[in-house]
Amino acid sequence: MTGSGAGAPASCWSCAGPVDAALPFCPTCRAVQPPRPLDHFARLGLPVDFALNIAELDRRYFALQRQLHPDRFATKTARERAISQSQAVSLNEAYEALKDPLERAIYLLKIKGVDANPDGCHTVKDPTLLMEQMERREALMEASTPSAIEALAREAASHVSESEAAIAAAFAAGDLDGAGRETTRLKYLVKLLEEARARKARLTAERSSAA
Ligand SMILES: [Zn+2]
Repeated sequence: MTGSGAGAPASCWSCAGPVDAALPFCPTCRAVQPPRPLDHFARLGLPVDFALNIAELDRRYFALQRQLHPDRFATKTARERAISQSQAVSLNEAYEALKDPLERAIYLLKIKGVDANPDGCHTVKDPTLLMEQMERREALMEASTPSAIEALAREAASHVSESEAAIAAAFAAGDLDGAGRETTRLKYLVKLLEEARARKARLTAERSSAA
């Protein structure tokens, strides 16, 4: 299920003319088209790659979102309003899945036929990763001041960046196993970072209410 969906023949519901599956409007009559089954990259007109140009992703998303804005359909038929809404839903799904690096890695592995999601399955096979995560979690539990937690959060954030770079390198080298392992690691790192931030917020709140 890779591929851009380009070339899949489709015709316009309104004028029956040919339409490009990746475009939300008919080139002939401009009628909004129902979302076709496309991968998220094709829906946003982007190459299937982990190393996305985020500025380009944003640019394409916001341009399409403007074209599908409900105000533009206020005077159209109920059918066109409904179609434009389902296009907007598909567009949002694609954007949400691609803009977050962890979600993007999981999705890309999925369309390349690798299931990255069975919980912790790589961890069990990877004692180094398991050890590393246990030690970090312990350090976080033992940190008792906001500044100690802040330092751990900063460390986790830099590990997240390193892990994202390692995933990009693995995908670029066609190493799906490596990308899968590193994606599992990223999942843990992101979780740890979230926990560090939550713990810091809690501790800060406790201190300010005790003061
Ligand atoms: Zn048409």
